[in-house]
Amino acid sequence: MSTASKSPTPGLVLAYDTTLRDGTQGEGVSFSVAAKLRLVEKLDLFSLDYIEGGWPGSNPRDEEFFEQARDVKLKHAKLAAFGSTRRAKTPVAEDAQVRLLLDARTPVVTIFGKTWLMHVTEVLRTTAEENLAMIGDTVRHLAQNKREVIYDAEHFFDGYKDNPEYALKTLAAAHEAGAGCLTLCDTNGGSLVPEVREITAAVVKKFPKARIGLHCHNDAGLGVAVTLAGVEAGGTLVQGTINGYGERNGNANLTTILPNLALKMKRTLHCGKNLPGLRDLSHFVDELANFRPDAKAPYVGASAFAHKGGVHADAANKVARSYEHIDPALVGNQTRVLVSDMSGRSSVMMKARELGLEVDAKSPRLKDFLTEVKAREFRGYQYEAADASFLLLLKKFLENWREPFDVLGYRVMVEREGQGLMLSEATVKVKNGEEVRLEVAEDAGPVGALDRALRKALEPKFPTLRDVHLSDFNVRIVDTGQGAQAVIRVLVESTDGHERWGTVGASANIMAASYEALCDSYAYKLLRDARKK
Ligand SMILES: [Zn+2]
Repeated sequence: MSTASKSPTPGLVLAYDTTLRDGTQGEGVSFSVAAKLRLVEKLDLFSLDYIEGGWPGSNPRDEEFFEQARDVKLKHAKLAAFGSTRRAKTPVAEDAQVRLLLDARTPVVTIFGKTWLMHVTEVLRTTAEENLAMIGDTVRHLAQNKREVIYDAEHFFDGYKDNPEYALKTLAAAHEAGAGCLTLCDTNGGSLVPEVREITAAVVKKFPKARIGLHCHNDAGLGVAVTLAGVEAGGTLVQGTINGYGERNGNANLTTILPNLALKMKRTLHCGKNLPGLRDLSHFVDELANFRPDAKAPYVGASAFAHKGGVHADAANKVARSYEHIDPALVGNQTRVLVSDMSGRSSVMMKARELGLEVDAKSPRLKDFLTEVKAREFRGYQYEAADASFLLLLKKFLENWREPFDVLGYRVMVEREGQGLMLSEATVKVKNGEEVRLEVAEDAGPVGALDRALRKALEPKFPTLRDVHLSDFNVRIVDTGQGAQAVIRVLVESTDGHERWGTVGASANIMAASYEALCDSYAYKLLRDARKK
């Protein structure tokens, strides 16, 4: 029988992904069967070692998933079905849930059992002895059916603190019955680093031949830290989810754990060679779950290597390492310079380079550009989240670039009929060469109506604008310190399915600000398309 028993490769740590099972316990996380299958392929391409697909029997969607997953040929990863030990006083061969685990026909089955006596007597309402038998019987039965068995010891750290002897007995029951890996779970997520290090070391000492895994949660903000502590203590399998999805505060975040293991702790990972694709993987999963990527995420977030202010940006421009803990390219990320009124010439130079524009530092136009940026920031513009608008402005100043379309004017009406629905109507006039197009569109809101009308007028000439979707629309009232006149800043985030970009508009009039941000978004898309050709 093949098992996950310890491999001869020194320093090898196996990666076990549970985004599809524990991850979907997270608030707002849900994947269709089709999305789950796409994710399995992506995780396999990344060379994660185990992919936990779900809990057959917990819902029809998971059963359907395992049914379809059988046709997916994986290159590296092994698919795991997750479930629990047999029920008390039920022969394992007659246990319906164990039957479903075998019916899932995965090479790996991961089962969880109780470690903590309080849970055995109060929750399962059975005896300490019967619990050990439930663990042993289930592992043995699955192993006899040629499954690689991973045993998840639920509440392991809490159970161990309560009664170390009994906690170790539960592991022994699984180990002796043929579980290749014993995973210690911090189910409540509240354990601290020294506890996990110490307890894992004790387990490693007790079971020198077993592979010891860690499954941690982030309730104390330490999901990643305790997982790494477990590895330091001898653990060689890490469970977690992409982007830390999971119930409450989430599971230990694999997107942080994996680069820490490979780049800082010098462990060997089968996916180590794929780390330059980590940022893409993280964004892919967010996209699939319909979440906005977390800019502050370590390693993969948009802000992870972002520099603001003259001194930092200047130093980072000269020697990247001076303000960066790793080379961002190692995880597929990149250095970003945040352009704000704190920044000087070198930030702009660096930003321009980041956006693919070569700028002559001595160009007098660069000075004019800096003056213009400062004047705009004073009027309420802000370019930190609006790279695309910044690039367009820079191109206007340095290369006399102009938008490829000419909007002659627009008009927006907002109407309410009695107590009925609100309706907005926008009219735009666009010049295409000699031709002038007039288009009208309706929407519930005025910005939506304007967006529709502009697209209607522009898409016949620029069909790729059809791929552009507004993924975020953010309105803020800005205090510019200019007295009574409030300025409204509109930040728009757009995507064409491949890339995301931010644009900005600012005005005392919300429609004028929105119009500006929308036009910049279309212009940026067309500029990108032109550059690709
Ligand atoms: Zn969990």
